[in-house]
Amino acid sequence: MRKIFGLLVLLLALNTATISAQDFDKYFCDSTLRIDYILSGDVHRQAISLEGMSRMPGWYGKRQHFTEIPVHGAATIDMRNAANGELIYLHTFSTLFQEWLDLDDAHLAPKAFECVELLPMPRDSVMVTVNLYNHRHEVTATIKHKVYPTDRTIVHKGETDVPQYVTLNQATHPERGINIAMVAEGYTQEQMDDFINDCKKGVEGLFSFEPFKSMRDRFNVIAVLTPSRDSGPSIPSEDVWHNTAIGSSFDTFGIPRYLTTLRIKQMHDALAGTPYEHIIVMVNTDRYGGGGIYNTLNLLMTKHKLFIEVLVHEFGHSFVSLADEYAYEGEEPNDFPLDVEPWSHNITTLVDFGSKWKDLMPTDKAIISIADDKNYDTQTIGLYEGAGCVLKGVYRPTPNCMMKTLKVPKFCPVCTRAIQELIDFYTK
Ligand SMILES: [Zn+2]
Repeated sequence: MRKIFGLLVLLLALNTATISAQDFDKYFCDSTLRIDYILSGDVHRQAISLEGMSRMPGWYGKRQHFTEIPVHGAATIDMRNAANGELIYLHTFSTLFQEWLDLDDAHLAPKAFECVELLPMPRDSVMVTVNLYNHRHEVTATIKHKVYPTDRTIVHKGETDVPQYVTLNQATHPERGINIAMVAEGYTQEQMDDFINDCKKGVEGLFSFEPFKSMRDRFNVIAVLTPSRDSGPSIPSEDVWHNTAIGSSFDTFGIPRYLTTLRIKQMHDALAGTPYEHIIVMVNTDRYGGGGIYNTLNLLMTKHKLFIEVLVHEFGHSFVSLADEYAYEGEEPNDFPLDVEPWSHNITTLVDFGSKWKDLMPTDKAIISIADDKNYDTQTIGLYEGAGCVLKGVYRPTPNCMMKTLKVPKFCPVCTRAIQELIDFYTK
């Protein structure tokens, strides 16, 4: 299967020369095509269904490298010209549905999850394909459907009743900047000043970490004022049910600290018309929790003392597809394949270590593998066993990193390089 996947990458690479930044206007309009899907199934069988399409003014995603992806997630979406099959856009992401498939619950009964993807509005008719992949990088579900830009059933969104937003950071070249929206969740209308203050703290916190600090001028950040009726998120285990802007909740999948939202459509509806691509949902609670899903969302609590650390750690997941560098007994995923190289830059099974941080390894040392890393300096690059939530056979680059523990407020050199490369991919 790895060979087949390698071929796919090669084919995509062969196509990459065709579309450059100057070609945007040739292929796309300056507006967004939003496609809503339903992902459903269980551990045995998964399906993707088209639920609806809408268009919004402006395009706030990448404006170059249209047919390349910087790092793979667990799903891809691409657009091909319907007439000649030319690949014109490729994007990758991960989903909560695929996280759920790793749980025992996924053996019991099928479940359905919302998924929303944003694409630049094509000028001509296109064929859109979405693929979901398993941990072996095999395609487990596919949908192919045509989109006609002239289709009158494509709903118009974000043209009126656009929520109020405040710009907190602006890129030196705003039109080429990476667009982040911080969204209010569980803040009432009266608490909006408090929300803006929390966003300012969040922005200063994120940009106090390297390499974000020295690349701050590549980001546009807005705070979107989406008031909730109730203050704070729902906490099912305490029978607290609140009516909030994004419908967030603790106890996701029965895990107390897993604070996230299943209301992906509601989240995008709340943002319609604002300049957004990457989403940080700011949840008004002092209870510890949060989660980050690559190119889907970053959601976290704003009133806990680890607010900034969690924001930055989860942004590592949601923006860069970095893996957790920790592993704990009793929390290991089912069926994690050790004969496949994982996609994330910061963990390896050694199947294809050359694609990871082999070039950064000290030349005077053979590959080392240790469980007890206490004797090593936090930034000494090597191969430290226990990463990606797997105790044996998966390695991380340094003893400690922001992706392992919030107590070390620094990304390791491997994560730092991955973040720099990703920012350059979008903006350079
Ligand atoms: Zn790291």
